Amino acid sequence: MHMPRLLIVSNRLPVTVKVDQGEVSLARSAGGLATAMRGPHERLDALWIGWPGDVSRLTDAQRHAADERLAAERTAPVHLSQAQVARYYDGFSNAVLWPLFHYLADKVELDARRDWEVYAEVNDRFARAVVERWRPGDFIWVHDYQLMLLPQMLRERLPDARIGFFLHIPFPSSELFRILPWREQILRGMLGADLVGFHTASFRHNFANSAARVLGVEPEVDVVQHEGRAVRLGVHPIGIDVAEFARLANDPGVLAHAQQIRRETGGRTLVLGVDRFDYTKGLPRRMLALERLFERGPHLRKKVRLVQLAVPTRERVDAYAELRRHVNELVGRINAQYGSVGGVPIHLLHRSVPPDYVVALYLAADVMMVTPLRDGMNLVAKEFVASRVDGAGALVLSEFAGAADELSDALLVNPYDIDSVASTLQRAILMSPAEQHARMRALRAQVEANDVHAWARRFLDDLALEDPRRPRPSLASAPAKLADEIAASQYLELLLDYDGTLMPLARTPDQAQPDDALRALLRALAERPRTRVNLVSGRKRDNMDAFFGELPIAMHAEHGFWFKPRGGAWAAAGDANPPWKDEARAIMDRLAARTGGAFVEEKAVSLAWHYRRVDAELASVRLRELRYLLRDLADVHRLEVLSGSKVLELRPAGVNKGLAVARARADAPPGARLVAIGDDRTDEDLFTALPEGSIAIHVGRGDTIARYRLESPEEVRALLEALVHGS
Ligand code: UDP
Repeated sequence: MHMPRLLIVSNRLPVTVKVDQGEVSLARSAGGLATAMRGPHERLDALWIGWPGDVSRLTDAQRHAADERLAAERTAPVHLSQAQVARYYDGFSNAVLWPLFHYLADKVELDARRDWEVYAEVNDRFARAVVERWRPGDFIWVHDYQLMLLPQMLRERLPDARIGFFLHIPFPSSELFRILPWREQILRGMLGADLVGFHTASFRHNFANSAARVLGVEPEVDVVQHEGRAVRLGVHPIGIDVAEFARLANDPGVLAHAQQIRRETGGRTLVLGVDRFDYTKGLPRRMLALERLFERGPHLRKKVRLVQLAVPTRERVDAYAELRRHVNELVGRINAQYGSVGGVPIHLLHRSVPPDYVVALYLAADVMMVTPLRDGMNLVAKEFVASRVDGAGALVLSEFAGAADELSDALLVNPYDIDSVASTLQRAILMSPAEQHARMRALRAQVEANDVHAWARRFLDDLALEDPRRPRPSLASAPAKLADEIAASQYLELLLDYDGTLMPLARTPDQAQPDDALRALLRALAERPRTRVNLVSGRKRDNMDAFFGELPIAMHAEHGFWFKPRGGAWAAAGDANPPWKDEARAIMDRLAARTGGAFVEEKAVSLAWHYRRVDAELASVRLRELRYLLRDLADVHRLEVLSGSKVLELRPAGVNKGLAVARARADAPPGARLVAIGDDRTDEDLFTALPEGSIAIHVGRGDTIARYRLESPEEVRALLEALVHGS
């Protein structure tokens, strides 16, 4: 039997193909994601699917050698052309999604339609690569913003696959997200997963909110119902390989290197920055904060040095060239102003260095500056903490980095506030060893408790959870058997909903007029031996009379408030004009008047506040208000406030479709079997009230307590036809 595996899918593989003098080799890929997933990849014996870098210039033999080397590393390449990389990666991923998701809307490419098309095309390529390798039982873990359409593409082709998606960058506020012309496709793409993970609760909240506003779904805190599936939303702050950083920090070679860096600093306080050379990292403002510090404290000018490692990145994207120019200019200006023959205050290293070098820098630093304008997590902050086995050093951390949620013992700053960054930097420089140690102890405990292995384990454990709300298997394949079971009943009492059950939902209720075939079917059922038919609808009495008045059936209107037995007259379950109605109506009308798209519907027994066309965010505010305003009235008059699909209904407690069950049973012969069929939440009351031995059938997707499920009104009618004619 096939052992289930984990398939990791990310834009880049953890290794990149290199050719040096005709010789093919693999180099480690840089970046947070590659660093983070390397451990889980090895430990879990996973297969990693992704882009191995540009191989267009390789000969066939070299390409073959590269593929073999990649396979030996348990990786499977998705080869992309240079043109694809330019549009999908440099274009849509890094010049649209990246700036937008980091709240830098002005850096978003102006017209990205072509890039979008290639982004979708490349996601499809990845989908094909995954489908090719997937075996039943395998878990799929898709990573990051380059592959946001992939979960849905996989869901369509592998409906039973367990799919997780993790977003390593922030998810912005819905106000910003909805700028994106392809917002709907991106959300639907992500919702193809079973579990969508974010670094922080606020990114998750932003996502749920965006889905509500753009797709009209009604999310709960950690789950969204989407196309009949429950998609769980998780908060999983990523960690680092703590043990590996501790090992490097204790390595004699690294320690010697750290000593050497300190000597070269010539007794100055060493302030360190380690970042990709990216405009989200806040480098210009960090330089300005240092300049401000020197302006304010002349005594610090010769005592402080900033070593800034700026790792080359995305060099082909225009905004990055502009950033490099700007930073170089600032460094030049500050060094010219405050440098001397003895040295300059800012030392900019524009290159990539190996991990042991990074750790030597972490160990040599007095103050670590991590001041991104926005960052999904920021691993550098955690790496610094994990490396400080000596318990010393001060961390200045942007409150807009995901890491700030966990690392509350750092000195938190608003990176946009240059004065405040300058004074916080000064505070860090002057921090006493006792305070450094106290803070570092707390920070280290935090980082150790959630290392990258724990993070991956938790995500995968969550992904493996059986979801109790997952739809039950469809019975569409065996309706004949169900019909046989029902037909075998000694005496049959049918309780049938109308809209969405016997008739497809129409745009407006008047468009859903019953056809002749349906009338004939209901009549035939009613004439079937030992069978009685009840129509149980939310519609009004006169409406039901107009549709079915001439048929020999019982009818329950307005969700069971009105009842008309076969051949009898309508009777109400209570006061048809209750005293609370005027007051409630006034409250609802007032609120509807200040809510675009909302309207009030009055039924004999209840009042309904409809908000289908109201903006989701506004709706959630108004609903809270409405519930608040109605609560005294509801208390006094024993009313229920029910939330239906985009409607809030106020009605007397206990008056619901469940009443139809009691009435149908009242004069049914002993041994009668009840069969209820319905499609929406109000029908769940019907199902709940059924006695043991009954059969409940839910129509369509979505949550239900019913044991059986049919896909559509056509299937319902086919089932009923089978009862009439025998299957
Ligand atoms: N890093 C690197 N090469 C270097 C310097 C740093 O690969 O020359 C690593 C660093 O150790 C960290 C990662 O790059 O693991 C940066 O991750 P972070 O989350 O801070 O930022 P991101 O690059 O993901 O935006």
